Amino acid sequence: MGWLEKSISEVASAVAKGDVSAEEVARESIAAIEENNARLGAFLAISADQALEQAREVDRKRARGEALGKLAGVPIGLKDALCTRGIATSCASKILTREGRAWRPPFDATVVARLKAAGAVLPGKCNMDEFAMGSSTENSAFFPAKNPWDVTRTPGGSSGGSAVAVAARMTSGALGSDTGGSIRQPAAFTGVVGVKPTYGRVSRYGLVAFASSLDQIGPFASDVRGAARILEVIGGRDECDATSIDAPIGAYEAACERSVRGIRIGVPDEYFASGLDAGVAESVRGAIDALASQGCTVRPIKLAHTDYAVATYYVLATAEASSNLARFDGVRFGLRVEPPRADLTTMYGRTRGAGFGAEVKRRIMLGTYVLSAGYYDAYYLKAQRVRTLVRRDFEEAFRDVDVIAAPVSPVPPFRIGERIGDPLAMYLADIYTLPASLAGIPAISIPAAPTKATSDRPSLPVGLQIMAAPLDEERMFAVAAAFETTSPARALRPEL
Ligand code: GLN
Repeated sequence: MGWLEKSISEVASAVAKGDVSAEEVARESIAAIEENNARLGAFLAISADQALEQAREVDRKRARGEALGKLAGVPIGLKDALCTRGIATSCASKILTREGRAWRPPFDATVVARLKAAGAVLPGKCNMDEFAMGSSTENSAFFPAKNPWDVTRTPGGSSGGSAVAVAARMTSGALGSDTGGSIRQPAAFTGVVGVKPTYGRVSRYGLVAFASSLDQIGPFASDVRGAARILEVIGGRDECDATSIDAPIGAYEAACERSVRGIRIGVPDEYFASGLDAGVAESVRGAIDALASQGCTVRPIKLAHTDYAVATYYVLATAEASSNLARFDGVRFGLRVEPPRADLTTMYGRTRGAGFGAEVKRRIMLGTYVLSAGYYDAYYLKAQRVRTLVRRDFEEAFRDVDVIAAPVSPVPPFRIGERIGDPLAMYLADIYTLPASLAGIPAISIPAAPTKATSDRPSLPVGLQIMAAPLDEERMFAVAAAFETTSPARALRPEL
């Protein structure tokens, strides 16, 4: 009992030693999902039979004395944007659902195949904002996910279900996708570790595309080492994704043991501007002080184009989304709405009208507009140029510092319903996560001290963000793990 309270490395080594069977851990995970899902909304589909079979296969391998993978017997939740062979995949959208039944892909995403090969057990598909568009998981077409620290608040998004699965100890780890913050922000909101790797570090093959030049799959775990181990398993070149980088995977887990003495940390002024919640600022400053007392040197830096990140991202991401989502046409997948004697255009219109939610429609319209003749130069091309300036800010900064420390979100978890009627307020929640996405650099969120309880809100989780230069995940993990050993959030768990 209590295996989901333990870290990923503890579970994997207990399974390898035979202290517990993979089947027992899998049963615990499935029971935890069944017990808590109605209240927390973390999973859209549960694949208990397949998970138990994966676990028994690990146990049979062990009985035969075969070598076990790095994640043998470890339950991992999967964001529902990841294709899973024969298992419902809806991207939290009605357009991939026909007569109540979600699309069943004929193949596994590369990351799913790699998890399986490493012995992971995959009990289900996690809730998300529809097509990963959002920052609260309220845009799910089915039901919102809820924050286990306070169920009246959102767990963040878009990978909110994956974050909740780990925070509420339903699984030991999870995969999400981060286009503009969708792993880091929900990790920060739920008090778990979340990593957005370097763009291209992890294959996107089998991830339902939102904005292809930004999308990146990454891990959630209850500790930094667990996230590092998952990245070692899922990362690396894949022939099926031409943007995946052909560079060796680092020793990420081993990097978590490294000393951080002498590491130079840059702190960007622009990330502590007005609009930053005082409780979040205090927590993040405290975290940076803790790293300084471990021997890091801390200095202020400038990332001059930070202010333009939100506008730039919401032009580029919507442009790419409008093109990627053209494939949902009622012909190839899922929903088809076809009035009698309708022509093709009417069928397309009716299907997309009924199948997409309001936020997805808003983005398709915005994206189509910025790409249209006459506006392309003014919006899309301009945004591409500003993206280059944002990337150069980081290139310059990394000449003088090794990593950058900052908040993840300007505010702690907000209430369900608080921002959903105001898209701009929702988009501004991404202000500190978007620049790393635009630049393609790796970034992690680690739990820092929660905010102090006040008369209008309880104590709530806060994330410290560590960003590093492209492919420098090892240094990012080293700094994150060093902070984790001293973080006041280390032993905190939500009450279920
Ligand atoms: N919140 C951002 C958006 O809505 C980022 C989403 C993401 O990273 N998938 O686009």
